[in-house]
Amino acid sequence: MSAAAVPVYILLMGVQGAGKGTQASKLKERYGVPHVTTGGMFREMKSEDTPLAREIQQTMAAGNLVSDETTIAAVRQRLHKSDAVNGVILDGFPRTQPQAEALDAMLAEMGRKVTVVPYLELRREDGIKRVTDRWVCSLDSNHVYNLSTNPPQIPGKCDFDDSPLIQREDDTPEAAAKRIDAFFAQTMPLLDYYRERQLLRYIDARKPIDQVTAELIEKIDAAIQAG
Ligand code: AMP
Repeated sequence: MSAAAVPVYILLMGVQGAGKGTQASKLKERYGVPHVTTGGMFREMKSEDTPLAREIQQTMAAGNLVSDETTIAAVRQRLHKSDAVNGVILDGFPRTQPQAEALDAMLAEMGRKVTVVPYLELRREDGIKRVTDRWVCSLDSNHVYNLSTNPPQIPGKCDFDDSPLIQREDDTPEAAAKRIDAFFAQTMPLLDYYRERQLLRYIDARKPIDQVTAELIEKIDAAIQAG
């Protein structure tokens, strides 16, 4: 399957470090839809010279969540871009109940709905370890490495474009622990929201990357076929 026959809206959920970004970059080829990460969108926006950009920068550096209003508006715009006509893989959104409800409403306006919500399950301590071991490409933050589980071929360099690898400023142990605690407090309740709608699928995120990808594909394909 290269391009999806029906629009697909895959919501990848999981604590920071569970592998959402790594998996999304594999799944986007298969389903022919872009990988939309609100964290990535905000990282791009924060370099602009506007009051909103400064607010986002401070919020992110402190490991806090950007307001629902700003986040929902950014996602709404993104879903209407031409490359998202067949759907998207969302990573890092929704994070709160108002965001989940807003997403349902946005998709309903477009005559669409969430296809499936794979939950990459990982414990708090494993998440903190993976996040603090994480290095990203200085050119494209979607090129993500992990010193223990997914090291680059040449130390300190991106496999795709040779650019130097850097650590994200919110991947310090303190900020990582804060973001991960926010996930368990604010985002875990969303699992109930999607379980009730029979959209939630559990995946063990401790397994090797390729095995996680295979399980994701199996579950996503089944959800697409079930319509
Ligand atoms: P992430 O790369 O997903 O860990 O996101 C990095 C940062 O972006 C988070 O710590 C938040 O400050 C912000 N962010 C990303 N997604 C959301 C969201 N759905 N709601 C609010 N803030 C978000």
